[in-house]
Amino acid sequence: MPELKRELLLVMLSLGLVATIAGLVPDKSGASLSSAGVKRTERFATLNGDGELHLYNLKTKEQLQVTYRDSEGNYDHAVLSELNRLLRCSWDNQTTLIDLELVELLDDIEDHFGAERLDIVSAYRSPAYNEHLAALGRNVAKQSFHMKGLASDIQLPGISVAALHGYVRELRLGGVGYYPDDGFVHVDVGPVRSW
Ligand SMILES: [Zn+2]
Repeated sequence: MPELKRELLLVMLSLGLVATIAGLVPDKSGASLSSAGVKRTERFATLNGDGELHLYNLKTKEQLQVTYRDSEGNYDHAVLSELNRLLRCSWDNQTTLIDLELVELLDDIEDHFGAERLDIVSAYRSPAYNEHLAALGRNVAKQSFHMKGLASDIQLPGISVAALHGYVRELRLGGVGYYPDDGFVHVDVGPVRSW
């Protein structure tokens, strides 16, 4: 191999190595990668879920009891896919990538109350479903966090909506909405807000 080409190859190899190492260090946002390559942000490092979730989807009547993260912080991608499926839009069965921070938040809430399971009133909302709701005259946001896999409306069996709302509001990790008449609390991992 001519000397020049060989040197070029060596440079490319070393650049590749550099890129691999760069992928393992924390990025500017303060997020770090677990060994499974999933981002965990500092904001959510304070959440104390145990990595196990028991969810029941009130619309589809499906439930899922899973370990999505082990004690070393490794995420199980097959289980995360199952969670995406459970938290799909029940109107047209469309799925999305549910944000990992939302999964961690649901886990923290479930464990904080020592709840046997957490009930999902709604999670992902597809663009078609959102348009449908808007056409019905419902007060829905054009770019709802539900449409980004960042929000869920939840309730906990045996726990009052007020207590649930109070706890999530204290966390100050995202948005939280109080819907006592409908019996649920909206939680999302967008900016900190409450209503
Ligand atoms: Zn909501």
